[in-house]
Amino acid sequence: MGAGGKQTQAAPAGPQVIEQAWQINGKLYDLEKFSHMHPGGKRAIENAACHPNGEYFVESYHPDADVVYDQIEKYEVSGDVKLVKPIADEFKSQIDYTFEKDGWYRKMKKVAIQAVRGKAKNRNQKPKKTNLRGDDIYVAVDILHLCVLAMCTLLLWAGSWKAAIAVGVLRGACIMRIAHVASHSSLSVNPDLNMALYYASMIFAGTAPEIWSRKHVVRHHVNTNEDVLDEDRMEPIKCIFKGADWFDYHKNQHIYVWPFYVHVVMAWSFSDLILNASRATAGCAGYKPMQIAANYATLLTHMLITYVMPIYLCGWWGVFLVEINTLLTSTVFGFEFIVNHEIEGCDIYEESKGKKVDWGLYQAISSADFHPGEGAGAWFFNQLTGGLNLQICHHLFPGIHYRHYPELNKVIYEHMEKAGHPATRSDTVVSAVTNHYQFLKNCSEKYCKQE
Ligand SMILES: [Zn+2]
Repeated sequence: MGAGGKQTQAAPAGPQVIEQAWQINGKLYDLEKFSHMHPGGKRAIENAACHPNGEYFVESYHPDADVVYDQIEKYEVSGDVKLVKPIADEFKSQIDYTFEKDGWYRKMKKVAIQAVRGKAKNRNQKPKKTNLRGDDIYVAVDILHLCVLAMCTLLLWAGSWKAAIAVGVLRGACIMRIAHVASHSSLSVNPDLNMALYYASMIFAGTAPEIWSRKHVVRHHVNTNEDVLDEDRMEPIKCIFKGADWFDYHKNQHIYVWPFYVHVVMAWSFSDLILNASRATAGCAGYKPMQIAANYATLLTHMLITYVMPIYLCGWWGVFLVEINTLLTSTVFGFEFIVNHEIEGCDIYEESKGKKVDWGLYQAISSADFHPGEGAGAWFFNQLTGGLNLQICHHLFPGIHYRHYPELNKVIYEHMEKAGHPATRSDTVVSAVTNHYQFLKNCSEKYCKQE
């Protein structure tokens, strides 16, 4: 029996039994033994287990995917193999994504990485040693951020409305700057520190770490804007796809969705409790018992510090403080993420189905930026959102820390222009939100009336 991924012979003439495998470019690998040596940590590699297209992760998280293919060659398994957890073919995209050597993504990536390394060289660093994840200063600021957030939470329990405002803003920023960045293993070069900060920030964020990893890191980032596979779309509250289940109430989604947006973090926490119980969104390899326990521990601790303690200690005033906290966190966080993909021009899923499409170019077209460029405003939104304002860059380089995004972004925009697909971008967050409103309205006019 191969529990824990160990390859053993079940019987002299029987099949080789493996707990789970990584399917990359159609070949099977047993990366369990390699996972402890993975520079991005064991956890990052586990996200791709049992996925039918592990090459998505290899290509998007590594500056040079060919080096990785060479490194993992010795872990390839062939012959008569029996998988305890089979490859999850239901995660296969209906688009035939490619990573051609002379394709758009690979060529752009090479130039963009060189641009970042070239800049580092100018600062007298060895180019090959350039740290593409967060550096010590960013990690220190993130730890300080969590400490201040914890102190403000205690002051909120004491009844301070000023502390409730601070907690709301700091939580919103914590989700984007710490939880989201750590979920992509790009916060720190130290995988253990990265994981510790992921779990700590999730307690304040109010979502379950394992659900986020499957829903966002695997499904949303691999199959962006794909109906059914991409779960970051808030269905059935709203709809954006022609092929989705449209109901009559969706005609007014561009109006009724706003009160929901400003309470989204609360809905998020409670829905994750249900998802964890039902083990839905389990992803490819499913949840381990410890992961389910970690999800419950994070969610229940979050609910205790965010809802129970203020109301228990302050009564009705506590309810008011909870509402301030929820409104501000949801607004600061929500208004950054709703404009990332649901903007006119990003919905190219239907027209791409059944075709060969460069994966990177699909990601670039199906994402949208706001407040790009240089100057104080661009810097502020890059820092506040942890790079979510440069969403195109984030989808093309999810494993690189957002401090490098402005440099990468110049190359991305140039290559998109050359390919005849200029980046979808809004100058400000206000224009991005206006464009999102118009997109929701257009979707319901186009699709809902056909029902
Ligand atoms: Zn992400």
